[in-house]
Amino acid sequence: MATDQFQSPDYYLLDELLTEEHKLVREATRDWVKKEVSPIIEEYAQKATFPRHIVKGLAEVGAFGPYIPQEYGGAGLDQISYGLMMQEIERGDSGVRSTCSVQSSLVMYPIFAYGSEEQRKKYLPKLASGEMLGSFGLTEPDFGSNPSGMVTNFKDMGDHYLLNGAKLWISNSPYCDVAVVWAKNEEGRIHGLIVERGMEGFSTPETHNKWSLRASATGELVFDNVKVPKDNLLPNKSGLGAPLGCLDSARYGIAWGAIGAAMDCYDTALRYSKERIQFGKPIASFQLQQKKLAEMITEITKAQLLTWRLGVLKNEGRATTAQISMAKRNNVAMALDVAREARQMLGGMGITGEYPIMRHMMNLESVVTYEGTHDIHLLITGMDITGISAFK
Ligand SMILES: Cc1cc2nc3c(=O)[nH]c(=O)nc-3n(C[C@H](O)[C@H](O)[C@H](O)COP(=O)(O)OP(=O)(O)OC[C@H]3O[C@@H](n4cnc5c(N)ncnc54)[C@H](O)[C@@H]3O)c2cc1C
Repeated sequence: MATDQFQSPDYYLLDELLTEEHKLVREATRDWVKKEVSPIIEEYAQKATFPRHIVKGLAEVGAFGPYIPQEYGGAGLDQISYGLMMQEIERGDSGVRSTCSVQSSLVMYPIFAYGSEEQRKKYLPKLASGEMLGSFGLTEPDFGSNPSGMVTNFKDMGDHYLLNGAKLWISNSPYCDVAVVWAKNEEGRIHGLIVERGMEGFSTPETHNKWSLRASATGELVFDNVKVPKDNLLPNKSGLGAPLGCLDSARYGIAWGAIGAAMDCYDTALRYSKERIQFGKPIASFQLQQKKLAEMITEITKAQLLTWRLGVLKNEGRATTAQISMAKRNNVAMALDVAREARQMLGGMGITGEYPIMRHMMNLESVVTYEGTHDIHLLITGMDITGISAFK
């Protein structure tokens, strides 16, 4: 892969809306990505291998639980800092950002927000330091967009719960030490359970042959009469709203992350177009190539503004699920469009691992599907503005 020469586009001078702390966090994360992710990521993606060795570094840069209070090992930062970190990490690779989103928003967040004080103290510092890696089990083979239908269930056996079922498409599963698993009790109510690797009957087979998010490990969580201690049930929230609350936090991070992938594609295409000569001129001098670049920077700038405002609302505790859906949907689709156009601008070179564009493009095909598909987010906006659900 060519050297990482990334220059961040800031067409509307949005840096002026950021605090010194935001900029410090962003620069530290960007430097870390340039040093630790860019040089190795193409090789790991080509091999379809999770770069386990960078987990420690992700923890050190504060990417695990950026907004979790420091007393539990988090960085105690605000939501805009969290977003900027996800942007920078996804600028490196969506798979690496996925690892951070799962660890922070889908594992640490539910333990922090719905867990007991003992659970917080037991798990959060280890998750923040990267000593433990987590996964989040909601999706099942027959229940993806409609998780309320889940069949994974647990029975009260007196001194423990007995967990049965299976989860599919689970990020980090093959490497996870703990999993936050959503399952129904005997009354059909959804609860979160913390399942630990090593519990008898718990296995995590890997899903192979993905063309997307190849540097992120994906797999199943299988529960065959797993005895889960009663202390491992998240006591403070139940029902579908509990996992959906985690998804709000992760989708918010994805909205920022997708901008990072788009910025990398745009920046690569801009530089290439000024260097590549055809018909005796840089291809950047042709109107059709300028149109592509101008549209890319326009869409990136709109997404940056949308996301910054969402960050302000999130800091104030006012961001709604529907607002987060809109930003996730818009920014991921925007990033996919930018990646596709940028790929074309590099001609044949665009399909090689010499440049990051094709990898971003393939990664974004997962990002547009997970954490609520593009169409489901549209239905969420539709329901929000009409008051009518078009899901069923
Ligand atoms: C790489 C990867 C990593 C993932 N990581 C995790 C993870 O860590 N944890 C986890 O729990 N899950 C994870 N997922 C699962 C992901 O969230 C689901 O794939 C997603 O929710 C869609 O579910 P599905 O794949 O079953 O598709 P389906 O729900 O079967 O949808 C198929 C198509 O039908 C459309 N559709 C469905 N219902 C409607 C409707 N009512 N109206 C209109 N269209 C509809 C969808 O938009 C989609 O286009 C991951 C997925 C991938 C690909």
